[in-house]
Amino acid sequence: MTVKAYGSLAGDKPLEKLDITRRAPGAHDVQIDILYCGICHSDLHQARAEWAGTLFPCVPGHEIVGRVSAVGGHVTSHNVGDLVGVGCMVDSCRECSECHDGLENYCDGMIGTYNFPTSDEPGHTLGGYSQQIVVREEYVLKIRHKEEELAAVAPLLCAGITTYSPLRHWKVGPGMKVGIVGIGGLGHMGIKLASAMGAHVVAFTTSESKREEAKALGADEVILSKSQDEMASVAGKLDFILNTVAAPHDLDAYLNLLKRDGTMSLVGAPSEPHPSPGVFNLIFKRRSIAGSMIGGIPETQEMLDFCAEHGITSDIEMIRAEDIETAYARMLKGDVKYRFVMDIATI
Ligand code: NAP
Ligand code: ZN
Ligand code: ZN
Repeated sequence: MTVKAYGSLAGDKPLEKLDITRRAPGAHDVQIDILYCGICHSDLHQARAEWAGTLFPCVPGHEIVGRVSAVGGHVTSHNVGDLVGVGCMVDSCRECSECHDGLENYCDGMIGTYNFPTSDEPGHTLGGYSQQIVVREEYVLKIRHKEEELAAVAPLLCAGITTYSPLRHWKVGPGMKVGIVGIGGLGHMGIKLASAMGAHVVAFTTSESKREEAKALGADEVILSKSQDEMASVAGKLDFILNTVAAPHDLDAYLNLLKRDGTMSLVGAPSEPHPSPGVFNLIFKRRSIAGSMIGGIPETQEMLDFCAEHGITSDIEMIRAEDIETAYARMLKGDVKYRFVMDIATI
């Protein structure tokens, strides 16, 4: 079936309206009429070919929510009419140890929601800036939030799980001081989630305008990272730092803030490398730098249910599809509070 989408034909071209093809649902497939799609900074990196290997046409979008409009004959877990979500992946090998452990995000055969090989036209996956998507049932998530919250649930499918998973992996909870660096789409979810997990949250921002608002999101302290005095006031005090910044920057400034045995997990994926951190900051206090990529399907469902239970959604600004380039420009300036969401009805 032909559906409308927004995508780019080259890295230096703006996104435009396109016709794309979706397969008819197979026996294990769920067909979803997309209602809203969040705008992740990864979409911009990919559509503008800032990372290696963008396949064109590129239709980004991996924070997808919508309603099931058809299911294949063998589908047991979803019904027509259900509100569902799709995040950053639409398939994986389903056989390896990562897949068996529910860590499909680390499967070598993971198929991302866009820019990954598929037998569907045009040979690579096309994402959620589109009217419809067809996905294997195992990779479709259930949404238990109220229907009127649906648009604000969309960003949980990437920004939510990408912050939830490392917070859980490094066992964030009561009694811990946790830093969240970069208060954008990911970072604002990091503040909400770490706070709901019971940690003392210290937000780090380059934007003076976010100082008060970060407290409203749940931060106990806010540090303007450009101020050396403010940074010094938390030196050696943090148990864990989640760094979401989308640009290369000095990691030593943050490593210095960790206690002995503290870890900074990087989730931001800038197109250019960070300057190399110094080893002394690491060896003197046995600190670690780590990374984390989205989260597996069981943990994504756990995160959605945790958010529904704790009344957590994303703070969003809704955009029309044709305003996507303006949204990208504002995202690059850090001028979004805190996630753009595309109203798919406007395509
Ligand atoms: P975003 O909304 O643009 O937020 C990034 C924030 O980082 C900005 O709001 C800004 O916060 C801060 N920042 C930006 N440029 C900066 C600079 N030059 N120096 C210091 N701070 C800067 O982006 P996002 O959607 O949250 O994504 C963040 C990064 O994570 C992207 O690189 C994205 O590709 C990556 N990502 C990774 C995964 C994963 O699985 N690991 C998943 C999703 C996204 P302040 O205004 O508060 O300083
Ligand atoms: Zn994303
Ligand atoms: Zn696998």
